[in-house]
Amino acid sequence: MKIIMLGAPGAGKGTQAQMIADKYGIPHISTGDIFRENVKNGTELGMEAKKYMDEGALVPDELTVKILLDRVAKDDCKNGYVLDGFPRTIPQAEVLEKAITEIGDKIDFAINVDVPDENIIRRMSGRRACPACGATFHIEHVPPVKEGICDKCGKELILRDDDRAETVKNRLEVYHKQTQPLISFYTERDVMRTVDGTMDRKEVFEAITAILA
Ligand code: AMP
Repeated sequence: MKIIMLGAPGAGKGTQAQMIADKYGIPHISTGDIFRENVKNGTELGMEAKKYMDEGALVPDELTVKILLDRVAKDDCKNGYVLDGFPRTIPQAEVLEKAITEIGDKIDFAINVDVPDENIIRRMSGRRACPACGATFHIEHVPPVKEGICDKCGKELILRDDDRAETVKNRLEVYHKQTQPLISFYTERDVMRTVDGTMDRKEVFEAITAILA
């Protein structure tokens, strides 16, 4: 099963993608995670990507498409995958479609996790991340046991640059301009489904599994 998660940054599509991956035994592929890993390891790709990520802009398609196509060509993707954060532009979707069609396959579902902008801004500015182990928390919804400290490794938590209110607003603008057109793209291909992302994560997951069943 090949699934694409759509939705604004912070809509919860990463969490849902991981739950789908666990249930169906397919890899969860997040281009954002791949970029962050590269930033952390100080690779050339990471240094280039960081310039865009810190501003809430998209990393150029030339860089992004190649890492994604290399990833989905790996053995563990033979039975499918769930993509989280890719495609983000129509050209990315076209390249993906071409690559999948060439191997005689297709995308089964594109799932839009729908959350209004106001909720997103509230959710994201409350996020806290551990710079050491990558664990994430939320000051309202998933607070760490000790305020400001990572439960897993004891490091001081930070507000990631890309979760700052200013950056979040930029990212939402970028989302509406560049990514939202994908809803029409996948609607035309008859694979588009929308779930209400304001429900709690279990209910969102139930709505998604009802679609995939
Ligand atoms: P995410 O964790 O998916 O929200 O991604 C974090 C950041 O990585 C985004 O704000 C972009 O700067 C970059 N990024 C991730 N996926 C893509 C993509 N498909 N195209 C361009 N930039 C991306």
